[in-house]
Amino acid sequence: MKKFLFVDLDDTLFHSLAKCDPADVLQPIAFLKDGSANSYTNARQRAFLDLVGEGMTLIPTTARDRDALARVDYPFAHYRIIDFGGIILAPDGTPDRVWLARMGDDMATALPGLRQVRAVIEDYAQRAGFPARIRLVEDLGLPFYVNVKDADKDLARLDAIEREAVEPWLATAGQDFCLHRNGNNLAVLPKRLNKARAVDYLQARLRDEHGPIMTFGMGDSRSDARFMAACDYAIIPRGTQLSALALGAL
Ligand SMILES: [Mg+2]
Repeated sequence: MKKFLFVDLDDTLFHSLAKCDPADVLQPIAFLKDGSANSYTNARQRAFLDLVGEGMTLIPTTARDRDALARVDYPFAHYRIIDFGGIILAPDGTPDRVWLARMGDDMATALPGLRQVRAVIEDYAQRAGFPARIRLVEDLGLPFYVNVKDADKDLARLDAIEREAVEPWLATAGQDFCLHRNGNNLAVLPKRLNKARAVDYLQARLRDEHGPIMTFGMGDSRSDARFMAACDYAIIPRGTQLSALALGAL
């Protein structure tokens, strides 16, 4: 039986330098546009990649866009789920056409709301004097979500944006949208855009291609839980938002 690991990347398989333990032997694995390294593995993470690479096919299931995935130095050779599930790349690297058409319709419906929440956040951040970086993230010509980061990584300012601008909007005009928040990363996504939907679609596709399969889901964030729950087994790294919520809480 073929085994597939649907795996989030950032903070699951590797970390940005700021989150690494300086006592570890680090190796770069992901790079910025200028070619400088910005994410690293420690020895345990490399041993994990060796272990799962032996018996399973890894399917990255990530918020990264196509360019950012290409800057991860790992030979993903099968399907790839990117943009929070907005795009599925086939093994040959081309977007899955059925999924692209479906998401094209869904994101056309979501675009007015994405523009509206971007304006709401911009307005709030400007009035508060916050140096927020706010952008509507697109990939392969489709708009997907609004991403907000604080320029100084001041999480209290991002908390205020979440509480004062985003949550009131979600409770009123934005009921078809949801919030993803982890550290200095705030995203407002259409509910139709989620990794779990893409994983469901791809699992059905893989069963068509391979017959019965075994699936594993692995991630670090609250927002990964749904796609992990759609798999036969779930793997949660220690010291993550999700381990605190799922295991630490018990
Ligand atoms: Mg992650």
